[in-house]
Amino acid sequence: MTADEIAAALDDASGAVEPGPSAARARQPSGRGEPATSWADAFAARTVAVEGGHLHWTGATGHRGTPVVSFRGQVETGYRLAFRWHHGREPEGNVRPRCDYPGCVAGGHLADRKLREGGGS
Ligand SMILES: [Zn+2]
Repeated sequence: MTADEIAAALDDASGAVEPGPSAARARQPSGRGEPATSWADAFAARTVAVEGGHLHWTGATGHRGTPVVSFRGQVETGYRLAFRWHHGREPEGNVRPRCDYPGCVAGGHLADRKLREGGGS
């Protein structure tokens, strides 16, 4: 057997055992072991209260470190969820923390475009 033949045989073998896309889909992102039953649960499982009233994000992050959470096939940012619960309305434009804690998701520390422009709450 030549080296080329061995390499070809190995290629075939590895190709056969490689997990397909369905296997990758079956893997669930793990929060704390138990599946979340609501957005609030999913959010709570990814946050830790820290000194100063800030809420530290321990979950996944996306573009520019934005906290992201997925629940039942949907994806939301931690900012938007926390904003909605705290202010009781849908945010307008991008939601970002106004405090100095990086990635803070404390509802009261978040502001949307409307708040940043001083348009009340
Ligand atoms: Zn904060």
